[in-house]
Amino acid sequence: MRALICGAGIAGLALARTLGESGWDVVVVERSPEPRGGGYLIDFFGPGFDVAEATGLLPRLRELANPIQGVEYVDAYGRTTATLDYARFADAVGGRLLSLMRGDVELALYETVGDPVELRFGRTVDAVEQRPSGVVVTLSDGTREDVDLLVGADGVHSRVRELVFGPEREYFRYLGFHTAAYLIDDPGLRERLGGRFALTDSIDRQFGLYAVRGGGVTAFTVHRSADPELPDDPQRTLRECYGGFGWLVPDALAHCPRPPRLYYDQVAQIEMPTWSDGRVALVGDACQAVSLLAGQGASLAVTGAHLLATELGKGDDIPGALARYERRLLPLVREKQAAGRKTAEWFLPRSRARLLARRGLLRAMRVPGLRRALGGALAGRSFRAPHLGSAA
Ligand SMILES: Cc1cc2nc3c(=O)[nH]c(=O)nc-3n(C[C@H](O)[C@H](O)[C@H](O)COP(=O)(O)OP(=O)(O)OC[C@H]3O[C@@H](n4cnc5c(N)ncnc54)[C@H](O)[C@@H]3O)c2cc1C
Repeated sequence: MRALICGAGIAGLALARTLGESGWDVVVVERSPEPRGGGYLIDFFGPGFDVAEATGLLPRLRELANPIQGVEYVDAYGRTTATLDYARFADAVGGRLLSLMRGDVELALYETVGDPVELRFGRTVDAVEQRPSGVVVTLSDGTREDVDLLVGADGVHSRVRELVFGPEREYFRYLGFHTAAYLIDDPGLRERLGGRFALTDSIDRQFGLYAVRGGGVTAFTVHRSADPELPDDPQRTLRECYGGFGWLVPDALAHCPRPPRLYYDQVAQIEMPTWSDGRVALVGDACQAVSLLAGQGASLAVTGAHLLATELGKGDDIPGALARYERRLLPLVREKQAAGRKTAEWFLPRSRARLLARRGLLRAMRVPGLRRALGGALAGRSFRAPHLGSAA
């Protein structure tokens, strides 16, 4: 059997890895000219952690993880106003939590993708023609691939979804925020930041900084925007949005690059009634984006990829495998999406009253009895992979 996967992000690579192991020939096409690297810091926990453990990825992820003790909210002078202790959050998920750069999760997957997987960078899918026994895919370099299955693992703005399932607007739920992230190479800034993972304690917008493992500082922003439209010049937007901020923000803004080194996007969810059409399926954010507000997109991407590969590895019944994959994962995704939408108010306060309420909530997390309940609320109700034996 032969599959073509569009997108070498976490979902695409995780799928390629497990599908390759179960004997499929796999071609992965990736738009970017080389592995993307970098990205932003993600909390990796929940069902994807189970999958990483079951598939032998966990030791490498542990090596690549960042030793975050907690998040500090800071005022314009860098003074701490509130803290979120990671140990408490980790407690709520049974200690199964790692803080990783997105690029490092991809790196761990690249390292373990075996021979039956061919990676082709700087390409995308231009056209898709479904036939009873397979799919003919035309790539942007003019080549045609005759495959048994095409999988779109190309993220929130999926090209495969657009070509096969229709326009993005039909599935895209904008959550009212824009987000950005970039890496800064400035040893002086790194030294002044120290070991802190700090976020501005601010209304409607937030700027975060963390000195990542191996050098550099990752900058991360989220701000409210009633307008989902992406700006023509995101670098200028960030400078306007955070220009009045104190602490280390002016220095961090001075280092802000332009895309593609600057990641800038809407915060959104993708909701689809079905994740496959004939011999074309979607995986990861392309069909199930929960958004950074739900904090488990990478985890669910790994889970979805593994579940799909496991079902496909059971035999030749591709439509049956696609149906089982969707049936088993969709309820969990819906739960995380609903939880993510609820987080919006807490995540970025709209007013001073809400900002103070958030500080109170963080203080309450120091009380042992409340700790588990609040930690559990952060983690969500279900945080085990739905298809992994004892872990389920
Ligand atoms: C700021 C931020 C913070 C986050 N924090 C967390 C967190 O704490 N925990 C967590 O679990 N998740 C978090 N997430 C979500 C997580 O990053 C995503 O859910 C996850 O990366 C989805 O992986 P994916 O492979 O499905 O999509 P993507 O990461 O979007 O990867 C898609 C891949 O496809 C490629 N591609 C795109 N279009 C094309 C095309 N037309 N042709 C070929 N290739 C294409 C892209 O270059 C990319 O390599 C966060 C997201 C953001 C933005």
